[in-house]
Amino acid sequence: MEKRLYNFSAGPAVLPVPVLERIRDEMMCLPGCGASVMEISHRSKQFIAIQEAAKQRLIRLLGVPDDYDVLFIQGGSRLQFSMIPMNLLRGQAGPAQYVLTGSWGKYAIGEAKKEGATEVVYDAGATNYDRLPGDGELAFRKDAAYVHVTSNETIQGVQFQHDLQTPAPLVCDSSSDFMYRPVDISKYGLLYACAQKNAGPAGVTVVVIRKDLLARSQDSLPGYLNYNNHAKEDSMWNTPPTFAIYVLGLVTEWLESTVGGLVAMHKINLEKAQLVYDVIDKHATMFQGHSQKESRSLMNVTFRLPNEDLEKAFLSEAQAHGLDSLKGHRSVGGIRASIYNAMPIDGVRALAQLMNDFAAKHS
Ligand SMILES: *Cc1c(COP(=O)(O)O)cnc(C)c1O
Repeated sequence: MEKRLYNFSAGPAVLPVPVLERIRDEMMCLPGCGASVMEISHRSKQFIAIQEAAKQRLIRLLGVPDDYDVLFIQGGSRLQFSMIPMNLLRGQAGPAQYVLTGSWGKYAIGEAKKEGATEVVYDAGATNYDRLPGDGELAFRKDAAYVHVTSNETIQGVQFQHDLQTPAPLVCDSSSDFMYRPVDISKYGLLYACAQKNAGPAGVTVVVIRKDLLARSQDSLPGYLNYNNHAKEDSMWNTPPTFAIYVLGLVTEWLESTVGGLVAMHKINLEKAQLVYDVIDKHATMFQGHSQKESRSLMNVTFRLPNEDLEKAFLSEAQAHGLDSLKGHRSVGGIRASIYNAMPIDGVRALAQLMNDFAAKHS
């Protein structure tokens, strides 16, 4: 294949072209190193500078306050599903409360149940997770160990567009919408995201944790699974995923220098999502959105066509136009267009055009 396609994959997902070009240019010899980033010690001054720069850019982009640590951990968000209750629920009096708005939240509570008492505060399972809770549907306890929420449900395509306010520490799985808009980190006890959706390649997970919560972790935890070890050793308790951190650093540099920060990124994301949702609303007999309007995700646009034959025809026309990986997750079916930060607006325009043409041709 000669040409890059518009890649709508849910994850691992599209990366900014300038980042890929930079990786290519620095592959044989990272400036000043005489080797690639994969071939140097994680304790070399060059790599320490790369990791520290990535961390400082995350702190600037997200406005992370001083009383928080930013950690780079392996094992993906799935390991966080386990580490969070191991560190923050073990030994606590109150239960962990989970807001279930989709598949990932269900996986998260499944791991927490192995560790201690959990409570479901909200569960949209009856309508196949097509909506978020409204005001007044969430009864948070003061004595909860923490409240867990998934800011964007990647499979169903429902997303909170604001930071929740909870009396107990708020823990947020932000895997598929990390840095899509400015957030108020001070509202969170812990916010985590695997990189491979919106921030880099697979292999590194960012954990932003309020420092006082580190006191909950018990010494009896396995070393790697104890947040304190990662915090004390500046994410070098063991060999960190150096290549993934390097790329994550380049993505944050792109966000800061090329895009112009998260306010600018958010504006672009609103504009991109609007392009697709407008077509869905205009051709409501051809495209039926999975999520209810108020709950729609700016990152993963999920919709169905009237029957599977039309969905197959749509996917093959998309492929012919260079639009790739649009097939929906099997649990929701239909189409899923993942339009993360790095998806260029021209890719979204091409998708909207194809949808318009398809609706005109087949109605
Ligand atoms: C992809 C995803 C995960 C799982 O991430 P892994 O890195 O594969 O463990 C968890 N939560 C959400 C919201 C996701 O999109």
